[in-house]
Amino acid sequence: MALAVLFLVAAPYPPALAERVVGTALRDGVAYSRLQDLTDSVGPRLTGSPGAEAAVAWALQKFQEDGVSAHTEPATVPHWVRGEERAELLPAKGVAGLKLAVTALGGSPGTPSDGIEGDIVEVHTLAELQALGASAKGKIVFFNHAMSTASGKTTGYGAFVDLRTHGPAEAAKAGAAGAFVRSLATASFRSPHTGATDFAEGAPKVPAAAISTEDADLFHRLLAKGAQVRVKLWLGCKTLPDVQSANVVAEVRGREKPEEVVLLGAHLDSWDLAQGAIDDGAGAVIVMEAARLAAQLRPAPRRTIRVVLFMNEENGLAGGKAYAKAHAAEAPRHVAALESDSGAGRPLGIVLRAGGDGKALLAPWLAPLQTVGAASFVDGEAGGADISPLGPLQVPFVSVRQDNTHYFDLHHSAADTFDKVDRDALSRTAAAVSWVAVSLAEMEGTLVRPPPTPPRQRAAPDQPQPAATPPRSNR
Ligand SMILES: [Zn+2]
Repeated sequence: MALAVLFLVAAPYPPALAERVVGTALRDGVAYSRLQDLTDSVGPRLTGSPGAEAAVAWALQKFQEDGVSAHTEPATVPHWVRGEERAELLPAKGVAGLKLAVTALGGSPGTPSDGIEGDIVEVHTLAELQALGASAKGKIVFFNHAMSTASGKTTGYGAFVDLRTHGPAEAAKAGAAGAFVRSLATASFRSPHTGATDFAEGAPKVPAAAISTEDADLFHRLLAKGAQVRVKLWLGCKTLPDVQSANVVAEVRGREKPEEVVLLGAHLDSWDLAQGAIDDGAGAVIVMEAARLAAQLRPAPRRTIRVVLFMNEENGLAGGKAYAKAHAAEAPRHVAALESDSGAGRPLGIVLRAGGDGKALLAPWLAPLQTVGAASFVDGEAGGADISPLGPLQVPFVSVRQDNTHYFDLHHSAADTFDKVDRDALSRTAAAVSWVAVSLAEMEGTLVRPPPTPPRQRAAPDQPQPAATPPRSNR
């Protein structure tokens, strides 16, 4: 009892406030039912598609239902479309023919309508590709790798994502006819995992596809015994002219310092192979829940809580860049930014990127998160792809780190569907993000601004549990 009294006296917030945020998020389950609605009624939301535009309208409607004022802000986005995609392993001595499980990488050009055909050559790094020299000409380069965990410096997504983002462009420069990239995945039932690949403007391009881990293993076994591995590939994907799309921006205006902004972000677009439930429907409904709960508080939090549902995180980051550009003048008044793009797993703790002793400022506010298992600071890198353009502007980053053990089982694959989401885990993370947002908006002081991050060409990782060294790119 004495301890409880001490705790109540020491807490910098009224206990009723914590109950109204954390308790309500856990009880209502709105994030979960809303995710079902997004995934089942709007569905896939690839940038430039009718689904992406339907998602913008859906989000505006939901914010209105929640009593949160919202509007769109323009973003000019790329418009890549998937078409037919199939590949066949051709029979040869010691090689049985097989229909392969492949999916085009976002940004890939298509093949001619009668496909391309070539021998497979296996490499594990971009350096190995370079070492092939002229012998890569006319071949289909197969990027194999050893990803086996979600995070982890040598086995995680961040360790190998460069093979997908840059491998095909390097293969094109080497004169190859095409490229296969082993799925960046921690589980597979011959379900290939897509993702963006980058070709520089005016540089050579080749058709590029992800291949299931099972088929990648087959290539490796056949090549190891010296067999000829010859493949035919048909891709109907193409890039159409850019289109106008939008970020959805919603606000709960601060009662005392409305010009100071706590930014919460997630991305509204998804890949097209499935429903985008964990990537990033979950993040979208989590930050929407924070706005819904904050809008119910009387009085309103001291500062403004702004929720941005970004467009085009997956294949261009146009929304994140457009937001940073349009709001550059008020960047010094962004007191913190948090991006929720790590799936629907349960919360594990808080990660900070701030100057001074940010932890000392935030720590007294974290006790209400004991009930969801996230009341302490944990290792990692705070940030997110869409908010990464705010790093050079010295905006402090805060993350709620989540359990991502199974994130890359599903990520960017046809298995990213609503049924994979656990209601309790999602509610807990929604509660944690909502409470962190309210804390940052309500506390007396603000986090000290960190040194600027160097501007990045590409996004920061879609990777939830950042490795000790940030990966060079991440989508
Ligand atoms: Zn994502």
